[in-house]
Amino acid sequence: MSENQNLTKLFLNLVFPPKPYCLICSNKLTGVESIICNVCKNEISPLSDPLCKKCGKPLEINTYIGVSHNGDHLCYDCQREQHPFIQARSYGRYEGILKQIIYEYKYHGKRELAEFLGSKMFHLLKQLPWPSSDYLVPLPLHIKRQRERGFNQAFLLAKVIARESCIPIFKGLVRIKPTEHQTLLDKTLRKRNLKGAFKVNQSHKIYKKTIILVDDVYTTGTTVAESSKTLLEAGAKAVYILTCARG
Ligand SMILES: [Zn+2]
Ligand SMILES: [Zn+2]
Repeated sequence: MSENQNLTKLFLNLVFPPKPYCLICSNKLTGVESIICNVCKNEISPLSDPLCKKCGKPLEINTYIGVSHNGDHLCYDCQREQHPFIQARSYGRYEGILKQIIYEYKYHGKRELAEFLGSKMFHLLKQLPWPSSDYLVPLPLHIKRQRERGFNQAFLLAKVIARESCIPIFKGLVRIKPTEHQTLLDKTLRKRNLKGAFKVNQSHKIYKKTIILVDDVYTTGTTVAESSKTLLEAGAKAVYILTCARG
């Protein structure tokens, strides 16, 4: 190699570092690892009991706020509020490495991470005692937001889960109202902000069907509750919520 070629190679390595390095910790990946190293992967701990029976919120041991007669634990919110969905479950807590991975996925356009996140969600789904479902429904983004991001993170996750579970995707749930960033609003405003935000096209397809609504993060539950309500009003029989992380 000539000195010029060496320099070019050095320059290219600086600008485009040769993969594979772990996306999170930048350590070199071994032959069997891809995208994220095993050390980082092992730092993610899946959520485990005790969880709120309804919304899946992790409950502190010794501080169950409300134990019903049959031993089902409900969090404070779920005791006071009736969510329209049957149950919500998430793979892990929205913190640490998992939060970083989701951030890279959503905001840095690392679409290849959908495979990792989606497969974790599929493994969770297999363990859940949910009845067999007719459709996976990715939580839609408003067209404007989707154009900005270039993809819908929930749709790519649903695609991985659909491939593994053989449950088809229903694309008829759409977001017709661009909404403010929910995190900046209080609960009452969030609800008002979301009213009428979703619509179902081809609703005959989901008539009396059981649906799993798929999203990346469950934060306050307002968005999934509103979209569940829309699906149920359109004729769906029951809605379950599957997300990758729980905020
Ligand atoms: Zn790593
Ligand atoms: Zn709850």
